[in-house]
Amino acid sequence: MRKIILLLIFITIGSEISFGQIIDMHMHSYTEKTFWVGTARNGLASSKTAKETLEQTIQKMNQYNIEFAVVCGSIESLEVYTKADKRFIPGYQDSEETLVPLKQFEEYIKSGKIKVFGEVMAVYKGKTLADPSYQPYLAICEKYGIPVGYHSGGSFPNAQNLGWPNYRIKFGDPFLIEDVLVKYPKLKLYLMHAGENFYENTLRMMDGYPNLYADLGVEMWLHPMTKDFAIKFLKSAKEYRVLDRVMFGSDQMVWPEAITNSIDFLNALDFLTKEEKEMIFYKNAKKFLGIKN
Ligand SMILES: [Zn+2]
Repeated sequence: MRKIILLLIFITIGSEISFGQIIDMHMHSYTEKTFWVGTARNGLASSKTAKETLEQTIQKMNQYNIEFAVVCGSIESLEVYTKADKRFIPGYQDSEETLVPLKQFEEYIKSGKIKVFGEVMAVYKGKTLADPSYQPYLAICEKYGIPVGYHSGGSFPNAQNLGWPNYRIKFGDPFLIEDVLVKYPKLKLYLMHAGENFYENTLRMMDGYPNLYADLGVEMWLHPMTKDFAIKFLKSAKEYRVLDRVMFGSDQMVWPEAITNSIDFLNALDFLTKEEKEMIFYKNAKKFLGIKN
């Protein structure tokens, strides 16, 4: 029955829309302690509690056939999410000033509590991934084949006065982490938000480093400016033949409706074929994460 409905929608809307499975490379998790109510963004209202965020996120995953979602947050929030739904892949986000101790980090990886290191928040702390403090963690990720998701590009307005005094836009430039790619040639690294305003540098890096991936992150729904960057990035990625390393990520945060908006945004791009959309929604992430079935 579901297939028939999908087929009918498919015929009605057109041939360029993808209805395959989805892997979301960029979600966020919260506990009631870490949850925050956001202001309305680009017409989307914030959820009111951590519980509501989780429930609405799962509902969206069911609705859109999201097979897996990398969810980024504290270890406590990741435990809540992975317990609630097996489709969540736990990503450790270093929102605190200091990272979890190295030994603990390795233990979490061995026990499966951390399967992705990200969203790495270096830029919010006035650093980049090339900072010495991250190096032993990256060596462990390379050793265990743990993907690293690194925040690149800009952030929300007034970030410096909203808890991140050391944040500067310039730290989001992907060129600043080139040494990391040289130092850890086997590291599975993806640039979250695809470099956003630095999208040209992301493209240059993706050509120069054939193992570098990118997710579209918040770009597809947050702001007219980020949407514009996403379109320019995707058009060039297609022309430069690096589209096979671009991945879908909603960065839903406290706005679960952003999952819908992100999917609709990507599906509406008429310069991408159905096959290219399927790559971005699913196939590229499957390859990157090494999911076999
Ligand atoms: Zn994010």
